[in-house]
Amino acid sequence: MAMPKPIRLLAAACMVLFMFLVVQIMRDPSKAKAPAKEVKGDMVRDPNLDETWEPPEPLHRVKGDNYAPNNPNSDRINATLLSLVRNKEAKDLVMSMQDLERTWNHKFNYPWTFINDEPFTQEFKDITRANTKANITYLTIPKEHWEVPSWINLDLMHESANILEEQSVQYAHMTSYHQMCRWNSGLFYKHPALQETQYYWRVEPNVHFFCDVDYDVFRYMQDHNKTYGFTISLYDSPDTVKTLWPETLKFLAAGNSHLMSQNNAMDWLVDKSARPEHNTKANGYSTCHFWSNFEIADMNFFRSPAYEAYFEHLDRAGGFFYERWGDAPVHSIALGLFEDKNKIHWFKDIGYQHIPFFNCPNSPKCHGCITGRLTDGEAFLNKEDCRPNWFKYVGNEWDIGKS
Ligand code: GDP
Ligand code: MN
Repeated sequence: MAMPKPIRLLAAACMVLFMFLVVQIMRDPSKAKAPAKEVKGDMVRDPNLDETWEPPEPLHRVKGDNYAPNNPNSDRINATLLSLVRNKEAKDLVMSMQDLERTWNHKFNYPWTFINDEPFTQEFKDITRANTKANITYLTIPKEHWEVPSWINLDLMHESANILEEQSVQYAHMTSYHQMCRWNSGLFYKHPALQETQYYWRVEPNVHFFCDVDYDVFRYMQDHNKTYGFTISLYDSPDTVKTLWPETLKFLAAGNSHLMSQNNAMDWLVDKSARPEHNTKANGYSTCHFWSNFEIADMNFFRSPAYEAYFEHLDRAGGFFYERWGDAPVHSIALGLFEDKNKIHWFKDIGYQHIPFFNCPNSPKCHGCITGRLTDGEAFLNKEDCRPNWFKYVGNEWDIGKS
């Protein structure tokens, strides 16, 4: 029996509504809430353009007089500002010191530690002393920490550098650069004079700090149980790390997979979607890393048995000299595997520049950089920003509390 027309129309409308609801439910809810950090051509949206400015939890703020800035007697964390530097870089280092003293350290007076593979000159000491009222310690690296290890074959090292040079890898033949990367990977925290120190803020010559930071960042790390803080994250040149990931997998397969954190960032390390050719060339590693010329971190992570065993494995494999493994990918892979990813913090509020990249927060506390501008180098560099990939897999603490 045929239905009357109004009922047929009503049934058809119900069917359309039903189909619409089914499609909505089947849609991936994570896609429905896609963040505004999508890649448009080569441009990645700078996460600094988001409005949130203050860290999501207010714990970092001054906790009574005990932690007040500008009070020389208030409690301080066991920490130092740390810089590996050459005598000839004194003037460039002073630029970095002046920025960091002006924006932060004059309020907290954390001591500086300068380290060199050669003794510091009197001139270096005089010019640095003139730029802080905090204590300074000048250290020389023990020879056995710096020299090319005995198991490295120098002929093979030279041949390998020729190949890297053909691939336009920077510093291929500069042995001291390879030594520096190795030392920063697995030896800096072993200096005898640093054995009692827990946290460090790594500072390089000729970097810039743009924003007034009014809280003790070391206390923030400690109170929030953070291991590692970064400002900039980039993709690496895959030619420098071709065997780093295969060696890492060998290490894990050799009875070490139990060292991995339950809450690791493996999916971030092996991402292939953002830069597929990088992943292919680097044999399974995205090449995403925290740019380690800036680090605020807990040396106890590097002193842990997991990191110690991992560095030992890498060091024996020889890639610091046969390739040009950097301390940035080595630290980042280790953190991604062995540390709880929630213990890694993006210091969005610390405006920072190391040529040619910036972290430039959107805040009245910052002067001298342009928010949304990742680089003052050539435009192609814009696609090197890897922070959106970190946030994709790990989330962005600064989004907590925002809806
Ligand atoms: P880049 O940032 O990767 O181009 O490398 P840099 O030239 O900035 O070196 C990284 C850090 O290591 C800087 O703090 C340098 O001052 C330091 N550095 C590099 N090579 C040496 C070296 O041979 N001796 C010392 N003492 N410091 C070095
Ligand atoms: Mn540098």
